[in-house]
Amino acid sequence: MNDIRPMRTLGLIGGMSWESTALYYSGLNRGVAEKMGGLHSAPLLLASVDFQQIVDYQLSDQWAQAGRELSDLAKRLEDAGADAIALAVNTMHKVADPIRDAVSIPFLDIRDALGDAVKSTGAKKAVLLGTNYVAREDYYYGQIETRLSGAMELTLLPQDEQSFVHDIIYGELSKGNVDQYTRQRIAKAISKAVTESGVGAVALACTELPMLALEELLPDLPIADSTTAHIEACVDFIVRR
Ligand code: GLU
Repeated sequence: MNDIRPMRTLGLIGGMSWESTALYYSGLNRGVAEKMGGLHSAPLLLASVDFQQIVDYQLSDQWAQAGRELSDLAKRLEDAGADAIALAVNTMHKVADPIRDAVSIPFLDIRDALGDAVKSTGAKKAVLLGTNYVAREDYYYGQIETRLSGAMELTLLPQDEQSFVHDIIYGELSKGNVDQYTRQRIAKAISKAVTESGVGAVALACTELPMLALEELLPDLPIADSTTAHIEACVDFIVRR
């Protein structure tokens, strides 16, 4: 018998990039179907932005303006009936505070979801991959370290490899391109971190990175992925009463 109790509605702010928001859309619906059975799917309100505009704000250091626009969208989703807000991107959590302040409903933070997923790998040391913003700035890297509360160490790839990851997020993955050389190079850099720096897990702190399917190239390494972890947290919220 299908579960017919009402679910809660998620207000999702996506489009950063839409390639990864498509992963959220299918993941949220599959997750709800798995938990609820039958033909149940996720009650969603989606606001999808023009990613070029957001990248322009990043490049011109206009984070406050981006924060105002994303906060406005969050408020509109709340007014339209959303029971919680989720921002389907790691980098833009730089403006999580103004978004949280703009609404009176819960904000489901991707950093909490990834932090918990990394912790649950049980590794002593994890390497974090994402844009240069999340890798180098306290609002993200520092926040994950805090969430790990000393249970494990966090590290980065060498600077040239980290910058390569940053570049392919915008130049390839956000355009839907998955290049075999890119996959191999990143997997090789991670393997090197395993053998040379004692890394025992990977933290994918970018919503497009699961497109690389690194688990196929690194089958023995625990991979905590922000997209999957955030989707799971959102599904839990939607079905929880
Ligand atoms: N989707 C990526 C992330 O999770 C990068 C997009 C962006 O820079 O906004 O951080």
